[in-house]
Amino acid sequence: MKSPLDDAKQIDESLRHRLQGKQGPLANDLTQAMRSVSHAMESHENAEQLQGNLATLYWERVVGPQAAGATEAESVNGGVLFVNTKSSVWSHELTLYKPRILAELNRFLGKSRITDIRFRVRKLKKESVPIVPETPLLEELKSVILEPAERGQLRAQLEELIYIKDDVIREKIAHRLALDAKLRHWRIERGWKVCTRCQAAQNTEYSLCPVCRLTGG
Ligand SMILES: [Zn+2]
Repeated sequence: MKSPLDDAKQIDESLRHRLQGKQGPLANDLTQAMRSVSHAMESHENAEQLQGNLATLYWERVVGPQAAGATEAESVNGGVLFVNTKSSVWSHELTLYKPRILAELNRFLGKSRITDIRFRVRKLKKESVPIVPETPLLEELKSVILEPAERGQLRAQLEELIYIKDDVIREKIAHRLALDAKLRHWRIERGWKVCTRCQAAQNTEYSLCPVCRLTGG
């Protein structure tokens, strides 16, 4: 009478036979798979690509979210990791930390696989996703034309400035008020709401702006 143990033994034996034997579909499949893995490891390009993928994955963990947001680990070539950065400031900053980043990366990779890191200022791929700006360019702001009502409001504010005796200070405040009025117009054009109490342009889910909400509606 056969016990379950005998069955297991039999399956085990047949598996071993298939794996050891030169014939049999499983053995062939495994040999094939192992051959292609070792081929990939031997092939310079594939090994580099694998290294690059791993280094890219670990890059964000090693440098942290802030630096990761301003950089992109792109590829590994000849043991050198190429990293694109948002600006020369970031390249410089990260260069200062290069020995530590290298040590940390290689700790993740298991060996001293990456020998150097080159930083290049490039347009980051993640930046190409269009975002709605909340801040206009200065030229854009200057070219805003106020509505008659907005111009009236601004004029009333500017008239208050006659009490300021210092010409330079008065000019500066006047200039600032004019730009603020244009910024408000620009933001309302882009979907900002008008605070129902103080008329400030605001971008919250409430009908009152943050200041009016904090000071009590
Ligand atoms: Zn308000």
